[in-house]
Amino acid sequence: MITKPKGTIDFLPEDTIKRQHIEEKLRLISSVFNYKEIRTPTFEKTELFKRSIGEETDIVSKEMYSFSDNEFTLKPEMTAPVIRAYLENNLQNISPVHKLYYISNMFRHERPQAGRFREFSQFGAELIGSNDYSADIELISFGHYFLSAFGIKEIRIKINNIGNISERSLYINDLKQFLESYKNDLSEDSRKRLSRNPLRILDSKDKKDREIISNAPVLYDFLGSRNRLHFQNVLEGLSDLGINYDIDYSLVRGLDYYTSTTFEILSDTLGSQNALLGGGRYDLLSEQIGGKSTPAIGFACGLERMSMVLDAIKYKFPEYNPPMLYFVTSGEPAKKKVLLLISKLRTQGIICETDLLSRSIKAQMKEANRFNAKFVIVIGENELEANEIRIKRMIDGSEVRINFDNLTNYSFE
Ligand code: AMP
Repeated sequence: MITKPKGTIDFLPEDTIKRQHIEEKLRLISSVFNYKEIRTPTFEKTELFKRSIGEETDIVSKEMYSFSDNEFTLKPEMTAPVIRAYLENNLQNISPVHKLYYISNMFRHERPQAGRFREFSQFGAELIGSNDYSADIELISFGHYFLSAFGIKEIRIKINNIGNISERSLYINDLKQFLESYKNDLSEDSRKRLSRNPLRILDSKDKKDREIISNAPVLYDFLGSRNRLHFQNVLEGLSDLGINYDIDYSLVRGLDYYTSTTFEILSDTLGSQNALLGGGRYDLLSEQIGGKSTPAIGFACGLERMSMVLDAIKYKFPEYNPPMLYFVTSGEPAKKKVLLLISKLRTQGIICETDLLSRSIKAQMKEANRFNAKFVIVIGENELEANEIRIKRMIDGSEVRINFDNLTNYSFE
């Protein structure tokens, strides 16, 4: 039997209902925060991701699903596509600040494990056009708020400021020098990253690496007064809103486009892949892909990981049980009559079902119960002859007989 590709997910109807609820609630919350939905193509020019995320990152160097001509790639993330669409459609001419959100699937050729898939979905928000600290506060509080609206409260927010390009390159020089002296003690992965992307070593989970890193120079010490003030303002604003956070000077995040504020929201119920949401400021991205300088900040939250947390906290999904009429038929003429009736009722938005396997009345009743039908309507030879149908209200077993012609006007209460 042919099976699904590794690291992908089948959403069966019961899973889809849950996902639909999550998406509906996210859309509602987004509209309260005045974020508007953006949808972009499933694939983009490969160059877009190379230039924005960075060639030396894990995503670009080994996780992209690029087509064989290498011109196009299935999107591994949405920030670059959103900014591409923002620039291409000249949204800056409409208003100076844009608040956009998306719910979309992403593709990364990663090693699958619990909470890590090759096709996964993200809910994300991008606040484009402002470099003011108030934008950071609003966006982070949006991320914090939507999680708490789902009852996800056991979370940790980690926050840092990684400075601008020149502050960071001074730091990278220092960090490199420091790490060179421990080269032989570093893990193999980190040794590889030393020349290509030393910042990523700060993310290493290797025990020995962590020990070395704990004594490494700290990026924050290389920040100028502007970014320090920005950081202080953001932290103060979050405190004023009652949002707790931990400053984590080693939180650099993997992608090249981040500048200034970076943050992550972690949930310990997730195990080793405990990052639920990640984000940061990316003031240079627009220029990296050939646009006008445009400050922006955003986050992305993995919906599969969010679902795992919702399951862990036993989130109560609303019951989905719309009222249904089930037609039990006996004999060919009744079957044909019911097909006609059902098609009429459906045009009125009434949910109807009937037997499609020519089963016994008993088996049909069983199916009506399985569907949790609100009304069961029995039609056989006698009913056809009398031009009458029996409507049984399942909640109390009460029965009424009505004329066939009155069925489409009957109020099923
Ligand atoms: P990133 O775009 O890497 O910053 O990821 C943002 C969020 O997306 C993470 O915190 C996860 O919740 C989710 N995420 C990233 N990669 C994956 C993956 N391979 N499988 C499932 N969720 C993911």
